[in-house]
Amino acid sequence: MSLRFCPRCGNLLSIEQGPQGHRFACSTCPYIHNITHKISSRTYYKRKEFIDVQSSSAAWEGVDSTDERCPQCSHPRAYYMQLQTRSADEPMTIFYRCCDPKCMYTWREG
Ligand SMILES: [Zn+2]
Ligand SMILES: [Zn+2]
Repeated sequence: MSLRFCPRCGNLLSIEQGPQGHRFACSTCPYIHNITHKISSRTYYKRKEFIDVQSSSAAWEGVDSTDERCPQCSHPRAYYMQLQTRSADEPMTIFYRCCDPKCMYTWREG
């Protein structure tokens, strides 16, 4: 899933669980965009999303951190993000990024 920005206010949209599946939601204005029906290729969707998460620093701005040890440098905390990687009826995948700015190793749960 590529990063999306709110067409109203320009803020980065987050992904949340809505009544019809997952959707983009703006944190500063009421904009909501349902995303489940947009997915045409599961494989493409899954690959591209992971690349976005790994390569994009913007995706990690303002996310929460948790007690998760970095497998690369053993830093005890990591930022985490939940993303839908398959179809909307499957569980979310958690991505982590090391809190050490010199490391910033990114990995996914499991
Ligand atoms: Zn907005
Ligand atoms: Zn690390």
